[in-house]
Amino acid sequence: MQNISHQSATGKLVSGYLFFCPDKVTLNEALLCSAKVILCNKGGLDACPTCQQIQCGSHPDVCVYPKGDAFNTQDSKVVIEDSNKKPILAKYKLILIKDLDNSSEQSQNKLLKILETPPSNTIFLISTTNLNKVLTTIKSRLVKVEIPPFDSNCLDEIFSDYKNKEDFSLALEYGNGYIGTTLEILDDEDFMESYNLAKKIVLTMKSSAEIVNYLVPKISKNQFIRTITLMQSMYLDIAIIKAGKSTLIKNKTLLADLTTLENEFSMRALTSIIKRINEINKKQYSNVTLSLLFESLLTSILEVKYLCK
Ligand SMILES: [Zn+2]
Repeated sequence: MQNISHQSATGKLVSGYLFFCPDKVTLNEALLCSAKVILCNKGGLDACPTCQQIQCGSHPDVCVYPKGDAFNTQDSKVVIEDSNKKPILAKYKLILIKDLDNSSEQSQNKLLKILETPPSNTIFLISTTNLNKVLTTIKSRLVKVEIPPFDSNCLDEIFSDYKNKEDFSLALEYGNGYIGTTLEILDDEDFMESYNLAKKIVLTMKSSAEIVNYLVPKISKNQFIRTITLMQSMYLDIAIIKAGKSTLIKNKTLLADLTTLENEFSMRALTSIIKRINEINKKQYSNVTLSLLFESLLTSILEVKYLCK
């Protein structure tokens, strides 16, 4: 972002940028910020009419795509038309394209045509959460900009309205430094429940006779995924502690508890449990089978734990 600000100030902007990071909300924010930096006379740091128009989507020289859910060939067609129009108010015409990874190869190929011969005074600001799903030919036409995660002080400030929530510090811990993932946790009413369940399973489950105490009748898909993902990160942390790198663990608040489990699990058992959860996370399951799947996961964790002693 500072680069764009510098390039804008020195008149060295290129015709296209590709922003990437794992979080959509952060990327949408980055596109708007860059648009403001480029078009605002004061570097986008104020609330001037230009910045306000960009923020509410009414600036005539800032076109935002896709118009629907995903960028399609019709969008590519309109992008080509729009980018050939001269800017009305500003120095540049800005074409903002969100989530390009959601689009088909056909629409990306169509977009490529205009990126290969960009009209002067048009700048493309494109975003993706998955660089692998953007055509190499498109990537080669754009300057890639990685959006780094925010530091915790910054997020602390952004989410100050949530400070009194029980899961506030956990949300910051598990949001990986991105606004969208943090907000998702803060808005998830069941997060604490999933967290406590995952913690209980990892820290206290000892025998198959106890499994029944950890089952949730009619577990929802969201809670299922959340719980097993948290369990996975805790098992991974035990492996990290075993490897003598306890400063690198994710569940920092559980350091003391997880350290006590260090000798209960062999490295082989931990690897195998982590792999098993990965496999489950990749597949799609119906709600009906989730409870059964959860039970079989707990059984296999105990089996692996004793087999790989
Ligand atoms: Zn401004």
